[in-house]
Amino acid sequence: MPTYPTDRDRACAFDADDPLAPFVAESIVTEPDLLYLDGNSLGRLTHRARRGLLRVIDDEWAGGLVRSWEEWIDLPVQVGDALARHLLGAEPGEVVVGDATTVNLYKAASAAIAARPGARAVVTDDDNFPTDRYVLEGLAAQHGLEYREVRSDPVDGPDADAIGAALDGAALLSLSHVAYGSGALADMPGLTALAHEHGALAMWDLSHSVGSVPVQLGATGADLAVGCTYKYVNAGPGAPAFTYVRRDLQEELRQPIWGWFGQRDQFAMGPGYRPVDGIGSWLTGSPAVLGLGCVDAGVALLADAGIERLRAKGMAITSLIVDLADAWLTPLGFRLASPRAAERRGSHVALAHADAWRISQALIDVARVVPDFRAPDRIRLGPAPIATRFVDVWDALDRLRRLVEAGAHERHVPPARRVT
Ligand SMILES: *Cc1c(COP(=O)(O)O)cnc(C)c1O
Repeated sequence: MPTYPTDRDRACAFDADDPLAPFVAESIVTEPDLLYLDGNSLGRLTHRARRGLLRVIDDEWAGGLVRSWEEWIDLPVQVGDALARHLLGAEPGEVVVGDATTVNLYKAASAAIAARPGARAVVTDDDNFPTDRYVLEGLAAQHGLEYREVRSDPVDGPDADAIGAALDGAALLSLSHVAYGSGALADMPGLTALAHEHGALAMWDLSHSVGSVPVQLGATGADLAVGCTYKYVNAGPGAPAFTYVRRDLQEELRQPIWGWFGQRDQFAMGPGYRPVDGIGSWLTGSPAVLGLGCVDAGVALLADAGIERLRAKGMAITSLIVDLADAWLTPLGFRLASPRAAERRGSHVALAHADAWRISQALIDVARVVPDFRAPDRIRLGPAPIATRFVDVWDALDRLRRLVEAGAHERHVPPARRVT
């Protein structure tokens, strides 16, 4: 039996007991020695997504041509229903897939502001993802509202007292469920209730939780939610995002982009915008069909794995990172920049280090471990539970400690990069 938390055998034993181990082969691996720990930024290509994509390209596009729109036209709502059921704890007809997360944030926040005509402010936190902060700042400027950015703990996430104090007169509270930096998991039911106490609507960004953490949109009372599908859902770069609108708000909330895909009797091409009832009115223009097929494949794969098992593995595999970091990396100047308790974080771990930028670059180029870097000093390690073995994490942390022990990052000159 393995004795020490740092034994490689212990990681192998976790793999031997892992009910999701067979799912690792669902991902396409072209370089077996490359250890990929950036599933929280771009999920791997899966065999299912690739096969689905080839079918859409060869059969539906090349073969069916414009006739294929007969099937494509229903995809945004159909794929939304699958997401709702398997990953979001929502009902059919509450989720639609289309546009980018940023655009969906804009649509949903605009609708919320319009639904609270007397309100004076919108509220978010300073640790929210940049695009969320910018969209809200822009909307506040456009509508003459105060943009209130509450300070969150950079490790532990949103602070309910500070948020409560900022909600006076607010139309909307907009937060991320899992913080993109630290991975801190916010109290969705508690903070949603707090927003409601102040008469504000609550909107959640689920980009880092969908597919990694069970989400119960219905039970938590969330009003609106958005999220991307290219992280844990593995739908590929720029795949369409989703929007959730609680059913009993669908009549009241109107999204601001009046496009023909939301129009009643769309192909009558008639005068005047008269939106369909329900979630379909949140569509704008032609949906990205290739991406939708990949979202569908991604949801089906995660549904087979089971979100509860993905969550259990996500907690265990990030806990292995924390154990190894405590033993090996703390003495080298690293500091855990994520909640220590597994149930308080999503499926990635952030480690802070004064030399994080150079270390992250040397990790990629020299040690062949792919994490990402978030300014000013954090390396994020996101071992997607569907695609990563425990031993991959052990090997990655072992390479990281050897690299820093040897000072290899100090000698490494990375190529110029626009993306970190
Ligand atoms: C990844 C991510 C996004 C991405 O937005 P895009 O419009 O898809 O570029 C937005 N919000 C959060 C919280 C994210 O993690």
